Formats: sequence, C-alpha cells, structure tokens
Amino acid sequence: MTTTAIPDHDVLLFDLDGVVYVGPRAVDGAVEAIAAALARGLRCCFVTNNASRTPHEVAGHLRSLGIAADDDDVVTSSQAGASLVAEYAQGGAVLAVGGRGVSAALAERGFEPTSTFDARTVAVMQGYGPDVAWSDLAEATFAIRSGLPWIATNLDLTFPTPRGLAPGNGALVGAVAAAVGRRPDAVAGKPEPALLLEAVRRTNALRPLMIGDRLDTDIAAGSRLGMPTLLVMTGVCDAEGLSIAIGEEVPTYVAADLSCLLDGRPLPRFDPSASPAGSEER
Ligand SMILES: [Mg+2]
Repeated sequence: MTTTAIPDHDVLLFDLDGVVYVGPRAVDGAVEAIAAALARGLRCCFVTNNASRTPHEVAGHLRSLGIAADDDDVVTSSQAGASLVAEYAQGGAVLAVGGRGVSAALAERGFEPTSTFDARTVAVMQGYGPDVAWSDLAEATFAIRSGLPWIATNLDLTFPTPRGLAPGNGALVGAVAAAVGRRPDAVAGKPEPALLLEAVRRTNALRPLMIGDRLDTDIAAGSRLGMPTLLVMTGVCDAEGLSIAIGEEVPTYVAADLSCLLDGRPLPRFDPSASPAGSEER
C-alpha cells in the first residue's frame, strides 16, 4: 500500500482559480479545508499564474473569503518572472508590459519598471493586464528586436470571465512573437518550474504537495519538479479529461474537492486503470 498521508507533507501549494475560488466566490468547502490544514501545522502557500494582481490584492481576496493568508503566502507569476529577469540583468530599467502586479514585482526585485523602451532598458517582462494596448506591444517589439531578453509571466492562451473565455497573456505574447519572429527567452508560470520553485524557496518546503485543477499546468508543473500532486475536480478538469491524462499530466492523487484535507487521512491515490476515473468520489 503506497498511500501518503497529508502529515507527510510540510507545505501545501494551492492553485487558486478552480481550487480555492472561482471568480470572486470560494469553492465549497475550501475555506474549512485550508483552516483544518493550518490547524494541523501545515504551511499553505498560494501560487497563481495570474500576473495582473499583486500578492497583497490576492491575499486580501483570500482574507475576504475567511482564509488566513498573509501577503507572503501568495506567490504570483509576476514575482517568479521578476526572479527570472534577475538572471539576465542586475537591476536597471525593465519594460513592464501588464498590470500593477507586473510593475510591483519588478520594483520588489530592485528593478525600475518603465512603460517605454529607451537606451536604459535592460529587459522586457510581459504579463497580463486588462489595459495592455497596441502601443505597449509595440514598445515590447522594439525592445526585443534590439536584442533584449524577454520574460513572459505565463503563456495561458485564455482565462475564464463571466462572459466566457477571454484572451490570456499567452495570446498577447503570441502577438509579439509574431512580430519579433521568436518566442520568449523564459516563462515563469506553470507548467514551467519557476513559479513553484519560488514558492518552495520562500517556504523552505521539504515535502511540498501541489494541488490544482488543471492537468496541463498545475499537475504538469508539480510532476516536472518531482512533487506529489493532488487534482481536485472543482475546476476545469472533468472525469473524461482525467481518463486520457498521460505522462507528466497524471496526478498522484485525485479528490472531488479539498474536503479530502479535512481529517488528515491518507489522500485518495489516483488509479489510472480504474474506470471511470475518480469514480470513488461519486
Ligand atoms: Mg486553476
């Protein structure tokens, strides 16, 4: 029997949308499950590909739902992106394409976020922002074509809104890529490892568990780093999607929702041969 009880982990890394909340509202049972994990001494860290909001804004959202989260418990793809920029340049002006979260993360790392490309610019960081305009993409294009490094916070092509799927940062990165004839030099968000590595560094996690609702981002990111992963069925993945998962997208554990964290019992291990997938939860 190869089950691992939650007490065998020291840090839980939670994806947010579809796991902890959907839009402004908490997922049923998530608040109680996180409170129970914290009460048992587990550190909870929230990792999001969404680059537009600052950790303070995200943590405020979590606190408004009744979750005890400090700003430091939130790691955004903008923060991981700024760490990647630091591998290319030690300080200086960075062209910041995106929302407040992008500029704030660069400033936090000692860079000067700017909105125009000039002789002082050392790199480009591109993340989602609702007010990103053609002129911003043009500045990025000029800077990248001049030979500067280009870091993307994430490559999600779409994200959900109340009116349906809207273009995500990956779609806007694609527009710049078409103009410059190449892809970004580095990407921070899941499934790339930078975001989870940032969370592990910050929490000194030794035995982290990655919890998410998407196979191709959350589960793949955990798998690439050798972390056990827990898929919850409260977001985008359904039983059919899970049944065709292969390789790094196969989760270690699967549960209907976060209530599997409530009592500290062993997590339900995913058995790819069982059919239909996750049927023990139904
Ligand atoms: Mg999600």
